[in-house]
Amino acid sequence: MNVRKDFTILKQSVKGQPLIYFDNAATSQKPQCVIDELNSYYSHYNSNVHRGVHYLSQLATEKYEQARVVVQQFINAQYDREIVFTKGTTDGINLVANAWGLENLGEGDEVLISAMEHHSNIVPWQMICQKTAAKLVVAPIDETGELIIAEFEKLVSSKTKLVSITHISNTLGTINPVDKLIEIAHKNNAKVLIDGAQSVPHLNIDVQQMNCDFFVFSGHKLFAPTGTGVLYVKEDRYKEMSPYQGGGDMIKDVAFEKTTYNSPPHKFEAGTPNIAGFIGLKSAIEYVQKIGLNNIYSYEQNLHNFAFDEMSKISEIRFIGTASNKASVISFLVGKTHPFDLGTLLDQLGIAIRTGHHCTQPLMDLYKIPGTARASFCFYNSEKEIEFFIKALKRCIKMLAA
Ligand code: PMP
Repeated sequence: MNVRKDFTILKQSVKGQPLIYFDNAATSQKPQCVIDELNSYYSHYNSNVHRGVHYLSQLATEKYEQARVVVQQFINAQYDREIVFTKGTTDGINLVANAWGLENLGEGDEVLISAMEHHSNIVPWQMICQKTAAKLVVAPIDETGELIIAEFEKLVSSKTKLVSITHISNTLGTINPVDKLIEIAHKNNAKVLIDGAQSVPHLNIDVQQMNCDFFVFSGHKLFAPTGTGVLYVKEDRYKEMSPYQGGGDMIKDVAFEKTTYNSPPHKFEAGTPNIAGFIGLKSAIEYVQKIGLNNIYSYEQNLHNFAFDEMSKISEIRFIGTASNKASVISFLVGKTHPFDLGTLLDQLGIAIRTGHHCTQPLMDLYKIPGTARASFCFYNSEKEIEFFIKALKRCIKMLAA
C-alpha cells in the first residue's frame, strides 16, 4: 500500500532506529490531509457553530454539519440526525448509560455485557446499575477468547433490557458475531449497543444491516483527532432518552421557570463541540474511503497472518486470544517475562507496542495474568516491519535468557 508518504510521523527515527508503530489499537496516526484540515480551520475560519450569522460561523457550521452527513453515510445510518457527536467511545457509552439507562432500567432488569469488554463498557453500566438497582450480567468466553454463543443465548431473557457488547476485542482481537447477537437480543426485546472502537477502522460498518440500537466509536482510532467520537442512535430510541447534559446548543428556549429542548442530535450535544476535530474526522473518513475498507481489511489480515505464523515459530511465545475470526491484534506473553520488560526492550529498538492490561482487567483476571504485550497492525505497516519485529523479539528473548 502506497500510503506511508501520507504519515509524516512514521518517517522519524526513535532511539536511532526507524520508528515501527505497532500500537494502532490504542490510537492511530493521522494522515497529512487531516492535519491540513485542522490547520485550515484554525487559520481561516475558526468560529463557533450554530450561533453566528457571520460568515466564519456559517462556514464552520456548514463544515461541521457536513461531517455529520459523511459519518452517516460511512456507517450507513438512515438519517443524519441519528449521529450524535461525542468525545469518544467512552463518552458515547456514558451518554447512553445516563440518557437511556436511567430512563429505562430498574429493579429486576438486566444489562448483559461480555467477559472481554473494555473498562469503558463495564464501569458506566456498574454505575447505572447501582443507581437503578438493575443487575449487570456477564457472558462468558472460552479459552481461545471467543464468546460462548450458547451461554450468551441462555443469559438473554425477558429481564435483559440492554446488551452492550464490543464488536472487536481490543485485547484479544476477537471479532464478535454481532449480527447473530443482535438477533438473539431483539428476539427477547432487549436493545443493543455495539462498541465499535476497534471495528470502525478495519471493517465496513452498516448499522442498518446490523440493526443495532446504538453504535459508538472514537475518531482517534480512525485517523482523526482525539476528542472526537460518534454515537449512532436508531431514531426510535430517541423517544426513550432524556438529555444527559444541559447547556448551550441543546435547548430551544430557556426561561427560569422552564426550558424546552432542541431536537436530536443537538439535544445530546450540550456546549461548544470539538469543531476542528469533527471537520478532521470528515477528512479522515474520506481518506479511508479512498483506500477502501475491503482493501484495508484484507491487507491487515495478511499482515496479521504473517506475524502470527512467524511468532508461532518462537517456542517461548504464548498467545492470548486465538479466536478463528480475529482482527489485526496480537496479544502475547514471552515465557515468564513481564510484558513491561519486553515493551521496554522493544522500545530501545524503535518498536512501539502496548503492554499492560489494555483497560480489560477482568479479562486479565480470567486468564490469570497481569497483562500482555500487544502488537496491533494498520494498513500503513509493512511485512518488512514485521520481519524486523520478529528479529527484535528473538534478540530480546536471548537477552532476557542471558
Ligand atoms: N472500547 C474499546 C474496545 C476500546 O478499544 C477502547 C479504546 N482502547 C475504548 C472502548 C475506549 O475508547 P476511548 O478511550 O477512545 O473513549
